[in-house]
Amino acid sequence: MLSAIFKAVFGTKSQRDVKRMLPLVAKINAIELELQKLSDDEIKAKTAEFKERLAKGETLDDIMCEAFAVVKNTCRRLVGTEFEVCGQPMKWDMIPFDVQLMGGIALHRGNIAEMATGEGKTLVATLPLYLNALTGRNCQLVTVNDYLARRDSAWMGQIYNFLGLSVGCLQNMQSPDVRREQYACDITYGTNSEFGFDYLRDMGMASDKEELVQRDHYFAIIDEIDSILIDEARTPLIISGPVPMSDSQFEELQPKVASLYSSQNLLCSRLAREAKAVLEDENASPEAVDDAMIKLLQVKFGMPTHKQLLRILENGEIVRELEKVESKVRSDNNRGMLQEVQSELFFTIDEKTNEADLTAKGREAISPGNPQDFIMPDLLEEIHRIDTDENLSPEERTARRNRFQEEFSVKSERLHDLSQLLKAYCLFEKDVNYVVQDRKVMIVDEHTGRLMPGRRFSDGLHQALEAKERVPIEQETQTMATITIQNYFRLYKKLAGMTGTAETEAAEFHQIYKLDVIVIPTNKPCIRKDDNDSIFKTKREKFNAIVNDVEERHKLGQPILLGTISVEDSEILSRMLKMRGIPHNVLNAKNHEREAEIVARAGTPGSVTVATNMAGRGTDIKLAPGVAELGGLHVIGSSRHDSRRIDRQLRGRCSRQGDPGSSKFYVSLEDNLMRLFGSDRIVKIFDRFGLEEGDELQHPWLNKSIETAQRRVEQQHFSIRKRTLDFDDVMNKQREIIYQLRHDALVSDTPMDVLFGVVELAVGNEIQSCAAYGERKKDGVVFDIDRLVAYLNDAFPLEFKAADLTEGLEDGKLTDADKLTIQIVDRVEKAYVDSHADLPEEQLTYLVRHTVLEAIDRLWQEHLYAMDQLRSSMSLRVYAQKDPLVEYKHEAFGIFKSMMDQIYRDVAHNLFRVTITRLSSFDELLASMPQEMIHQTFEQFDGALPPGLPQEPPEEAVEPEIPVTFHRETPKVGRNDPCPCGSGKKYKNCCGKNK
Ligand code: ADP
Ligand code: MG
Repeated sequence: MLSAIFKAVFGTKSQRDVKRMLPLVAKINAIELELQKLSDDEIKAKTAEFKERLAKGETLDDIMCEAFAVVKNTCRRLVGTEFEVCGQPMKWDMIPFDVQLMGGIALHRGNIAEMATGEGKTLVATLPLYLNALTGRNCQLVTVNDYLARRDSAWMGQIYNFLGLSVGCLQNMQSPDVRREQYACDITYGTNSEFGFDYLRDMGMASDKEELVQRDHYFAIIDEIDSILIDEARTPLIISGPVPMSDSQFEELQPKVASLYSSQNLLCSRLAREAKAVLEDENASPEAVDDAMIKLLQVKFGMPTHKQLLRILENGEIVRELEKVESKVRSDNNRGMLQEVQSELFFTIDEKTNEADLTAKGREAISPGNPQDFIMPDLLEEIHRIDTDENLSPEERTARRNRFQEEFSVKSERLHDLSQLLKAYCLFEKDVNYVVQDRKVMIVDEHTGRLMPGRRFSDGLHQALEAKERVPIEQETQTMATITIQNYFRLYKKLAGMTGTAETEAAEFHQIYKLDVIVIPTNKPCIRKDDNDSIFKTKREKFNAIVNDVEERHKLGQPILLGTISVEDSEILSRMLKMRGIPHNVLNAKNHEREAEIVARAGTPGSVTVATNMAGRGTDIKLAPGVAELGGLHVIGSSRHDSRRIDRQLRGRCSRQGDPGSSKFYVSLEDNLMRLFGSDRIVKIFDRFGLEEGDELQHPWLNKSIETAQRRVEQQHFSIRKRTLDFDDVMNKQREIIYQLRHDALVSDTPMDVLFGVVELAVGNEIQSCAAYGERKKDGVVFDIDRLVAYLNDAFPLEFKAADLTEGLEDGKLTDADKLTIQIVDRVEKAYVDSHADLPEEQLTYLVRHTVLEAIDRLWQEHLYAMDQLRSSMSLRVYAQKDPLVEYKHEAFGIFKSMMDQIYRDVAHNLFRVTITRLSSFDELLASMPQEMIHQTFEQFDGALPPGLPQEPPEEAVEPEIPVTFHRETPKVGRNDPCPCGSGKKYKNCCGKNK
């Protein structure tokens, strides 16, 4: 209320932002007027002039207006120029409108510019790209597909080339050499996966400086930013290779789960049948009705998509009644009741949270006589019991503990596999969620309905589906490098984005990327007419109504765009249109280039285009002559999408640049959105008015109510993305540390310093533990020097003696660990240099770099595998009512720290042992591993919070800090750091000498 008044008086934030930009726009236009007097060459000379001024200390903001004016003026000069883009002849006809200049300012300032479809965002991006590329750094434009990267770079290249800047374009199959050339350009266009995978290859896999392709993460503008940072961000980028071992139990469990599933199916059918009989009996007693409702609830818990159940639930009154019963059963003080209701089932499954769980009855059925096989013991408690068992000798204790831990891991794998199998049976339907082709299980993309060959569900689910379908279970693959889209784009110094639809997700953009949304007004007022939604009881009635609508308008010649949320729906509608003899095109985001052409023609009289929501994104629909008089393009949505944003995107395809146009959505109570998240008030209305077959409901209030349902789904999806990110944040910190060290080893001009920096850490760690292991005396701990000498002589062939170690030790006690470390490492470094004195410089450098790289690659790979395992074991922790994230952070920290220590130790240990031939054969081995680039699809509800836990888990009290490369207690001056005396020399060659 207050904010409404505030907005009325002061305008929205965007309106205020826009208002503040007006003087800048006026300034740009004034400068541009002057520029019109110059010759082409004088305009071209501006680029060099700007660069010079930047070099002299002016900032990008200082020259923004002039630079934008130069771009605008260039456009003016280009008008009429003919050129070719992706094989099509084109003629330049654009000079930026004022609103486009505003969009450019918003982007330059690192915001998201929300500009409607057809406002010319492609051109808008050239303004800030030109300006920022004047710094000489690589500026990038991220597009949704390869075709748009190709099209936009060639199209906008007219401007850049005129002004003497180079533009490159990444494409899927390019070789590293070609990629490097694209990045070397001032401006690079490409898709998010191309950029992301290049980063992973550069930082995680390159074994030579020459292999690196990227040069900068300076400024990126993301086109269709909502699609990339929200829709695509649910799936991390993964480079994977095969894993040798696997001890999964899918094959063994599959027949058991199959029979469990059919028992449950029979049970549910019986329950549903009995309930139905009572509910249809008008003379049934209230007790009998109560009992029937409990039975329905049991079916809902046991098999939420059971056909009979869904049919019964078409009756809104029963839906409402069932919800009441469910919340009563679930409410806290009825804990016993929930168990009782579930105890008759073999297992329970929750469609919303995607959790599957055996009941006691199920455990007995699956493992008669041994139900414990399917119960997780409490690991800590059991170990504590063994450790405190007085009757056991220390050896027996260790043996018991090992045996117990082994059993534990077999059991946890079994439970995990079982839970995945239950999901595979109950929640994944063949030919809907996946198909089986050539004895392979192939995922069907939930957004586009496309098949995704080669992609696999994560966390064993795919293997569970393979077991269910009795096709060969494929080997689990191992992650070699991975990053989420979010974390990739956080690497950039400055990020900006543009799209027609960002406003509904503004909070997420702000929270996760620190990006603010500025809504830029349209060039001409939008006159689109949005009809109320029409709501039907069944899908069948809905589809009929849609086809009638299309037929009527088609007769008048009005062009129609019919958007669907799945390929299945497109196909049904297409069949129905065919039966009525209405010619149409069907698009489903398979062939971007061809579809772009078809969509571009969707505005011609009489054309009917059926398209899933991603098809043809990025191409705008211009009206052919005469179409405006017919009412312009009419957009029909065949369902509401899960997210309001996608619906806005669809509506936005008509009425561009002040054209007439209209839009309407059709909804049925059978749509997933309504079924899972819909408000039962809508159902109530249907009943109250006693609507008949084919009847529809329409009211502005109903639109709101549907949007509420959408908001609920959006909220849930947001928490999933946030959750994925929370988990990835842990990995991200680790990745940053490893990649930094790896990058240093690979490119540093003084690789020897990197190598001995690592050796220093290994020796430092060892000294710390020798200090800790020493004998405790009254006046302090005696340093265990024998242990240290033994270690040194094992690691280095230098015959260290206790008497050599003099620095930092006094009266047998450690007084300065750093001094002692330095004394040792200096000797090792000198010996190393001497022993490699006759190696040619180039080979020595290779050896030095690769001694570090080899240890990192070997151990990091193992670490990623361990992290994968840890991540999947987390879903089990839920049983113990602990927040998996907190546990995960804690354990991840432990294994990361020990991996880092192992890297240091291995590097030191290998120092005098590795040879060039051994290293290069390891390199070759790595290079020969088959690799796969996956932009993997997550399970819809993967990583969702377990029921019963608070939405926002409380932060743990102390979050462990991950040690950065140098993790001494008090990081003093490193040997290779510049000396604090200010001499400019390295510490070890200056004041640190002989210390
Ligand atoms: P968006 O990405 O915002 O949907 P596009 O960049 O694809 O829009 O441009 C849509 C259409 O508008 C293109 O055909 C383009 O030629 C045209 N256009 C863009 N800016 C201008 C302009 N300033 N003057 C004339 N036409 C323009
Ligand atoms: Mg666009």
